[in-house]
Amino acid sequence: MPPTSARVTAVDTYDIRFPTSRELDGSDAMNPDPDYSAAYVVLRTDAGDGHEGHGFTFTIGRGNEVQVAAIEALRGQLLGRPVDGLCADPGTLYRDLTGDSQLRWLGPEKGVMHMAIGAVVNAAWDLAAKRARKPLWRFLADAEPEWIVRQVDFRHLTDALTPEEALDLLRRGREGARARRGRLVERGYPAYTTSPGWLGYDDDKLTRLAARAVADGFRQIKLKVGADLEDDVRRCRLARAAVGPGVRLAVDANQRWEVDEAIRWTRALAGSGLYWIEEPTSPDDILGHAAIRRAVAPVKVATGEHAHNRIVFKQLLQAGAVDIVQLDAARVGGVNENLAVLLLAARFGVPVCPHAGGVGLCELVQHLAMFDYLAVSGTTEDRVIEYVDHLHDHFLDPVVIKDGHYTAPTAPGFSAAMRPESIARYTYPDGTYWATQDDKERTA
Ligand SMILES: [Mg+2]
Repeated sequence: MPPTSARVTAVDTYDIRFPTSRELDGSDAMNPDPDYSAAYVVLRTDAGDGHEGHGFTFTIGRGNEVQVAAIEALRGQLLGRPVDGLCADPGTLYRDLTGDSQLRWLGPEKGVMHMAIGAVVNAAWDLAAKRARKPLWRFLADAEPEWIVRQVDFRHLTDALTPEEALDLLRRGREGARARRGRLVERGYPAYTTSPGWLGYDDDKLTRLAARAVADGFRQIKLKVGADLEDDVRRCRLARAAVGPGVRLAVDANQRWEVDEAIRWTRALAGSGLYWIEEPTSPDDILGHAAIRRAVAPVKVATGEHAHNRIVFKQLLQAGAVDIVQLDAARVGGVNENLAVLLLAARFGVPVCPHAGGVGLCELVQHLAMFDYLAVSGTTEDRVIEYVDHLHDHFLDPVVIKDGHYTAPTAPGFSAAMRPESIARYTYPDGTYWATQDDKERTA
């Protein structure tokens, strides 16, 4: 497109909360009553082309106002920024934000401030892909390997991955991309579903939803575990009976256990034929994950949705602590840092099975997995994107699942934009939904 003098003119934030705790959707051993929420940001410009950049990070209720405040702390870095430059090189924004010499103290590169950076950086990528009139997966897959490498911050990675090695991976990753794109558009990208397995669901609901998942074409389901061992043994047996022997069964403890406990518990459930145990212990305990992995094999260890940044992923891989890398689109510093995670995983030959669910995480992360298939790992073997079947109707370009596969999005952008009427209804505390609730039912 022709050059413009457009600049970023507004950074609008929204505290959006959905009352999911009413139905125990999303309940697990660590998070029994989440109200799925988004700290949401819109970048507006004076380009006059109708394009906005939408981004968000996911929280589970109380504290979402803190997350919104962190995004607002970045406003000064964004206002007045030239739009052409921002879209031609989102990596400069990402480096400016993570390198802010004062805000950096609040991390560095972890927690609320880093998640805020992720929301803003993802909004910039949404804007860049929209202006290029491509869905983000295609925008990334069409980019030159040299440009992708420049989008990655290799600081503190070079003992495991250098820019030259990354370039090599991306050049090789391109081979056969055109044929893979045809398959992706035709078939989609494999998904697994967590919808049957929330901890708050009774046995009947679990069994019914597990059987339905198989009928819907999923080849893997996941159950939440970790509150009561006897219950978990029974629920895993019921799930296995419902799905039959040919479907993978994963379990997720959401960080609940000590290392020894994780080993004992996983072994007790292994008789139901577990594929992976997810987040068995603290997400910061890299050596603990390595010990668990050694002890529970052939059950695989999966983690990453709470990994702070690319350096934690590097260590998980270096320590032999994971079989499955579960990157999250909105916890680290946005697309740029997730490019680093995809490249690290490829370097170590470990599959990426992205974390999703929440609010809009499925919408975002499908683009990263599809880019990985086209331009990095080149395969969907042993790779699946998590799928959870709620809150999609709040998005303008919701994910489409067909026969257990994510359909490749065709609309330009990052699929991040929420419907204006959903924003108006669920903005906290003054949106039309929350304003009518009793105080005691509010999340804060
Ligand atoms: Mg999980």
